[in-house]
Amino acid sequence: MLIIGGGITGLQAAQNLSQVGIGVVLVEQSDQLGGNLKALGSTFPEGRGASELIAARANALKDSSQVTVLTETEITSLTGEYPQFKATLKTSGGNKKVESQSVIVTTGFLPFNPMDMKHYGFGKHPDVITALELAGKIRDKKIVTNSEEKEPASVTFIQCIGSRDQRTHTYCSAFCCMYAVHMATLVKDQLPDCRVTILYMDLRTPFCTELIYEDARRGGVTFVRSKPARIQTGTGNGHLTIQCEDTLDGALRFLDTEMVVLSIGAEPPYDTEKLAASLKVDCEESGFFKCDGEPVFTKAKGVFIAGAASGPKDITTCLAEGSAAAAQAAILLKG
Ligand SMILES: Cc1cc2nc3c(=O)[nH]c(=O)nc-3n(C[C@H](O)[C@H](O)[C@H](O)COP(=O)(O)OP(=O)(O)OC[C@H]3O[C@@H](n4cnc5c(N)ncnc54)[C@H](O)[C@@H]3O)c2cc1C
Ligand code: SF4
Repeated sequence: MLIIGGGITGLQAAQNLSQVGIGVVLVEQSDQLGGNLKALGSTFPEGRGASELIAARANALKDSSQVTVLTETEITSLTGEYPQFKATLKTSGGNKKVESQSVIVTTGFLPFNPMDMKHYGFGKHPDVITALELAGKIRDKKIVTNSEEKEPASVTFIQCIGSRDQRTHTYCSAFCCMYAVHMATLVKDQLPDCRVTILYMDLRTPFCTELIYEDARRGGVTFVRSKPARIQTGTGNGHLTIQCEDTLDGALRFLDTEMVVLSIGAEPPYDTEKLAASLKVDCEESGFFKCDGEPVFTKAKGVFIAGAASGPKDITTCLAEGSAAAAQAAILLKG
């Protein structure tokens, strides 16, 4: 079985297939397994460590004779159809050919790059950072400003960065409300006196993550319904000043803050369309892979899409889809 993408979804699918004795070639383009989780520490909903989630699966694969893991590997050609796909792989040790009855695509997402968001000062002011950068600071227990390397007295999250916006992507990235609320709570845990605010348009914390939201409120995180117009520097105390309208009471506010965290969303990896064409499957308008009617199935027999490759999803859903794709591929193989 060929699995393309070694993030948490691909790892889950590979582990499940190896557990039922099915051989797997897992192809990862970067030099490490784990995908976007590599940058995270504690994850919602339960605070599980991202590195432990990765290691549990990656170690199981190491011990399995059924699985070949190829990192730093690029797919240079992918042809054929069920039950005979043929891939040419460019590995660090030369080219390699693989044949597979089915293909599971777990290529995930790219974090939105807010470089063009000059009105928020990203790339201009060192204390306007992305949530990924904050995740690293929380994980390393070193939440300090980039400008002065001191613990910030205030941290403000801005939601829907690169999502639900006509200028970038119109879809909701699904996980950024939940991770922002979780990270806000972690900031309060590490810096109890820090003033933590989340500026949101709508808060999307479904199912059990509603409890994380309640905990955050109880723990002193402030929520303001607003999409800020701009962030100015060099005003107030020399910190960042966020100009925003509270859309609940219509008041124009100027919030002083020492650190701004952009809650970035997800976008499809650059080569999604090319890969979709090789596999004869469709893409959504958003650019992510399109499932056909039901999760993980596509219009091409033997091609399964799982995890964030078909749109932004949390880890729990990715694990469920990784297992579902493995089960469907195994059913096809065993007949
Ligand atoms: C800041 C931030 C915080 C988050 N916090 C949480 C959290 O606390 N809890 C939670 O549930 N979720 C969280 N998420 C969401 C979480 O990151 C995703 O659910 C998860 O990463 C999706 O896993 P995946 O394996 O589907 O995709 P990815 O993690 O994107 O992995 C895909 C892998 O495929 C590889 N790949 C891509 N294209 C190719 C190709 N053509 N050939 C070979 N390899 C390829 C990539 O290099 C990557 O390793 C967060 C997201 C962000 C941005
Ligand atoms: S999950 Fe929340 S922050 Fe992310 S795009 Fe949707 S509404 Fe905006």
